[in-house]
Amino acid sequence: MQTTPSTQIVKIPTAFGELEIGGPAFSVIAGPCSIESHSQFLDTAKAVKENGACLLRGGIWKMRTSAKTFQGLGETSFDFIQAVCKETKMGLVSEVTDARQIAEVYDVVDMFQVGSRNMHNYSLLKELGMQKKPVMLKRGFAALIDEWIKAAEYVTNGGNKNVILCERGIRTFETATRNTLDLNAVVYVKKNSSFPVIVDPSHAVGIRALVPDLAIAAAACGADGVIVETHPSPAEALSDGPQALTFDDFKNMMKKIEKVLTALDRPLQKLKI
Ligand code: PEP
Ligand code: MN
Repeated sequence: MQTTPSTQIVKIPTAFGELEIGGPAFSVIAGPCSIESHSQFLDTAKAVKENGACLLRGGIWKMRTSAKTFQGLGETSFDFIQAVCKETKMGLVSEVTDARQIAEVYDVVDMFQVGSRNMHNYSLLKELGMQKKPVMLKRGFAALIDEWIKAAEYVTNGGNKNVILCERGIRTFETATRNTLDLNAVVYVKKNSSFPVIVDPSHAVGIRALVPDLAIAAAACGADGVIVETHPSPAEALSDGPQALTFDDFKNMMKKIEKVLTALDRPLQKLKI
């Protein structure tokens, strides 16, 4: 008889305390698609913290489909990012798009993100396997579950066992939404691997009004958390504005997530400070 693997707990140490993903608590990670300015990041960090997020997200180097669009502020933003994290006492997950960025951004991030387009970048994964910080590995938009798990093993094989998987929607025949959120994958991976799994409804659906219901569905189906894009003024966002939640949207979504978690007898991961 096949036994169900239990989910490994991945610890995320930050300067402000340690988070755990993969235990009983549900974690909400939130922030802008791209970090655009000190005030945009600070306002977002304060709003999501006040409403129950435990970790910030925010792109520093962006993997954009078009080379002509905003590519992220890069290293010019490091100082103010660190100031925002210090002021709000929150950690940060951010994407590295190239192995050379790992050392550069090491002191700025608490967890490395590998984006969907880089899931098959095995040299990047091997490099992250030698790091001491956790890794959030997004599913390739056309990757099989098996390929995704095997990609995660490129990181764990190097010695870094702290890997969290992130389902962010896959490309299907459907074009009404940006991608198709594969909750099958979430429940499958939870039963068949020991990696914690979180859900990114923002990139999955691409439409702000539909993000909260999918985040609630993620909580209901046993995901370990969600990562959602939030912006002070989505209409002015330099990337992914149409899928960014306003602060009010975020607050309302959190109220509903908490109700689902209560019904399922699961706590929300809260920051201690
Ligand atoms: C992101 O989360 O910033 C991002 C680019 O998402 P994805 O890699 O899932 O497209
Ligand atoms: Mn985005």
